[in-house]
Amino acid sequence: MNEIRPKATVPSAEVASRIALPAQDEDVATLRRAVVAKLTYAVGKDPIVANERDWFVAVALTVRDRIVDRWMPSTRSNYASGDKRVYYLSLEFLIGRLLYDSLNNLGLTDTMRAALSELGVDLDRLRSSEPDAALGNGGLGRLAACFMESMASLSIPAYGYGIRYDHGLFRQVIKDGWQQEYPEDWLSFGNPWEFERPEVEYPIGFGGSVEPVSEDGATRYVWHPGDVVDAVAYDTPVVGWRGRHVNTLRLWSARATNPLRLDAFNEGDYVGAHSGRVWAEAISDVLYPSDETPAGQELRLRQEYFFTAASLQDLIRRHLNQHKDIRTLPDKVAIQLNDTHPAIAVAELMRILVDLHNIPWAEAWEITNATISYTNHTLMPEALETWPVALMGRLLPRHMQIIFMINGLHLDSLRQSGKNDDALLSSVSLIDEQGGRRVRMGNLAFLGAHKVNGVSALHTDLLKQTVFRDFNSVYPDRIVNKTNGITFRRWLFEANPGLTRLIVDAVGERAMDDAGELTKLAAVAGDASFQEKYAANRRAKKAALSDLIAERLDIKVDPDALFDVQIKRIHEYKRQFLNILETIALYNAMRAQPQRDWVPRVKIFAGKAAASYHRAKLIIKLINDVAKVVNSDPTVQGKLKVVFLPNYNVSLAENIIPAADLSEQISTAGMEASGTGNMKLALNGGLTIGTMDGANVEIYDRVGADNIFIFGLTAAEVTKRWSGGYDARATLAASPMLSDVFDTIYSGIFSPGESGRYTGLLDGLLNDDRFLVTADFDAYYARQRDVATLWRNREEWWKAAILNTANVGFFSSDRTIREYSDEIWNVHPRTD
Ligand SMILES: *Cc1c(COP(=O)(O)O)cnc(C)c1O
Repeated sequence: MNEIRPKATVPSAEVASRIALPAQDEDVATLRRAVVAKLTYAVGKDPIVANERDWFVAVALTVRDRIVDRWMPSTRSNYASGDKRVYYLSLEFLIGRLLYDSLNNLGLTDTMRAALSELGVDLDRLRSSEPDAALGNGGLGRLAACFMESMASLSIPAYGYGIRYDHGLFRQVIKDGWQQEYPEDWLSFGNPWEFERPEVEYPIGFGGSVEPVSEDGATRYVWHPGDVVDAVAYDTPVVGWRGRHVNTLRLWSARATNPLRLDAFNEGDYVGAHSGRVWAEAISDVLYPSDETPAGQELRLRQEYFFTAASLQDLIRRHLNQHKDIRTLPDKVAIQLNDTHPAIAVAELMRILVDLHNIPWAEAWEITNATISYTNHTLMPEALETWPVALMGRLLPRHMQIIFMINGLHLDSLRQSGKNDDALLSSVSLIDEQGGRRVRMGNLAFLGAHKVNGVSALHTDLLKQTVFRDFNSVYPDRIVNKTNGITFRRWLFEANPGLTRLIVDAVGERAMDDAGELTKLAAVAGDASFQEKYAANRRAKKAALSDLIAERLDIKVDPDALFDVQIKRIHEYKRQFLNILETIALYNAMRAQPQRDWVPRVKIFAGKAAASYHRAKLIIKLINDVAKVVNSDPTVQGKLKVVFLPNYNVSLAENIIPAADLSEQISTAGMEASGTGNMKLALNGGLTIGTMDGANVEIYDRVGADNIFIFGLTAAEVTKRWSGGYDARATLAASPMLSDVFDTIYSGIFSPGESGRYTGLLDGLLNDDRFLVTADFDAYYARQRDVATLWRNREEWWKAAILNTANVGFFSSDRTIREYSDEIWNVHPRTD
C-alpha cells in the first residue's frame, strides 16, 4: 500500500501504532500453514489436486504478504520524514523472475524450502513455473531492474515508472537455425506479485489543438487533446536486501476511456463497437524489440508520452498532497530519465508548470532543470532518438510549441553570450534541420537536465568528445560519469549460491553486505584447497548447464571443456560474427592437425536479434550452421562444440553465467557504452577476453593485466582507422587465416544446397566493415591461443578466476546508486 490518500497524508506515530502490522512469522510450521491457506483460499485449489503452477502462486502470494508487511512501514516512514524521493523513468524493466529474489532478500529461502518439503513440494522446481518478466531488451532494461533492487537495499525512497506490456520481448525459437519470433505471454496465468490499482488512473491526451487565451494582458495556452487514453497503475513491491526497505515499481497499462460504443453495438457493429478500445490499448500491448534504432513508429512515440505523462501526473499529485507547493519540487523530487525514451518529460513538466500552474517561464525552467537528470546509453548516431517535427506537432501540438520556445530562448541566450558559431548553434539545437526537420530527444534531455551521465569512464569521455562536444563546451559541469553496476544479490547470491557460500566461509558474512570485502579473497587466490573448492563449484555449475544443453538441444558437451560464452543481444557492434569466424578458424586448424593436443572448448552463444535486423539474424543462422557441421565432425573428436541456446533472458543468464570459464566482451572499441554482462561474468570468475571498450577498461584496471585477455584496436585507433579510409580487402589479403575462413564459408560446407547463403554477409564485411571485424581478427585469434595456454595451467587459471571475483566489488550497483544519490539526486540513504 504505497498510497496513503486520506486527508491526513502523514499518519501520526500514534495512528501508525494503532494500525500496527502482524508480527513476522518465519518458522517453518507457520510458513507451511500460510502457503496451504493461500492455496486453498486465494488459488482455490485442494492441495491433493494442486499442480506446480498453483503451488507457485500460493508461495508467491505468501511471500508477497511478507513483503507488504515491510512495504507499509517503508511507505509510511517516507511520508513521515518528508524525504526526497527518486523517480526512475524507464521504458524497460528487465526484472526476470522474482521468487528467489524476494525469498533471498527476506532471508526466507531455507525456511520456505523446509516448509514446502513437508508438503512434498520442491522449491527449486517451483521456480521454473514462474515466467520471466521480460519487459526489456537487454542491458538498459536490466540496469533499471538492478537499480530498483539497490535503491530498496539502500533504503532510498524510490519509484520505478514504466509500462506494463501485455507482451514483453518476443520469445525466440530457433527453427532450422533461423530465429523466429513469437509473442511472449508472461501474463497468461496472472501475475501474483502485482497489485492492480484501478483507482489510480490518469487521462493522457493526444492530438487536438492549442488555444491561446488572453488573461490580464498575458497569453495562456490551453491544450484540447483530440483523443484521451487512460493510464491505470499496477504496483509491484520491490524488497531490498535483508528486507530492510520496500519500494514500488509502478507500471502503467492503457485503457480506453470509452471501451464500448453502445450505439454501434446496438446496430450490430460488434467489431466497430470495440475499435476505440483496440486502438487505445495497443499502447501497452508490446515492447518494441529494439533499443538501438528508433522504431520510427507513431505508436512508439505514443508509448513514450503515455508513460511519461502518467508518471509526472502521479508524482506531482503525490508532491502536492504532501508538500502543497509545486515550487519545492526539486527539493523533494529527483527524476532520472533512463535514456531518451522519457525525454518528453522536459516539455511535459514545462507544460504542467506554465500552463496548468501559472508559473512564469523562467522559473518553470529552473524547476524543470533542477528536477530532471538524464542517463545516456549510446553514442551510435542511428540510435540517438529523433522524431519528425510534423509527427510531434500532430501528436503533441503543445509540446512541439514548448520545444520550439525552449530552443529559441536557448539559442538566443547563446548568441547573446557571444557564441555565434553556426556549427555550434546547429549542433546544440533541439531541431535537426538537415533533410526533414526532426526533434532531437538527446539534446532535449541534455538541455532539460542538470546532470547528464555516461555509464562508464570511457563512454563518458567519448560523450564529451563526440555527440555532446558542443554542449559540453557550453555546460562544462553537466556531464558526469556513473559507471554501471549489477546487483550482487541476484548475480552472485541467487545465481551462484555455491560460490557465495565459499566466499562467506573464506572472508566472512560481511561480504554479503559490503562488496568491498570481496578483496579479502585475494589472500586465498593461490591457496590449493580454496582453488579446489572454487573449481568444484564451477564444475557442478557446468555439469548443470551441460544437462540443460542436452535437454534443450540434444547436444552432448563435456563439462570439463573450457566453456567459452558470449551471451547478449545479437548485434554487429557486439561482434558475435568475429567470434564465429574465430570458431571456424579453430575448426580449420583442428582439421589440419587432428592429433594435436587441443584444449577442448565449448562455444556457447545466446541472444536475440531485433526482428527486422536481417544481418543479425543471418549471423544467428551462421552460428547454427557452423554448430551443425562442427558438432558432428568426427575429426575434431568432440574437442570443439558450438551451442546456440535459444530465448536468452534473465533466467537463462542465471544458468549460464556461473558456468562460464571465458567471457566474450569483444565489441568494437568505442561502441559498447558500458556492458553489464561483462561484470556478471567476472564476478562469477569467468575470465574476460575483450577489447578496451565500455566497462571492460575499468574491469582491466581492477583485475590487472594478468587476469584478463585484452586485444584489438582501442577506441582512438578505431576512429583513426575510419578516418584513414579503411580497406577490409587489404586486411583480408594480409591474413592467411582469415582468408582461409572466408574460403571455407564460400565453399558452402556450412550451407549445403545454398552455397551463396553467406556471400552477402561476407561481401558486406569487405565493402563496409564498419565494426572492424577483419581488422581485429588476427589479434583476437592470437589472444584466444593465450587463453588456451593459461587453461592448461590449472593453478594459474583458478588463481586468475578467483582474483576476478575478488576485485570486481566496485561493480556492485549499490556503489553506482550511492554515486547517483550523492552527485545527481542529492538524496541520502536512510537508516531505518
Ligand atoms: C546483463 C544482461 C544483458 C546485458 O548484457 P551485455 O553483455 O552487457 O550486453 C542483457 N540481457 C540480459 C538478460 C542480461 O541479464
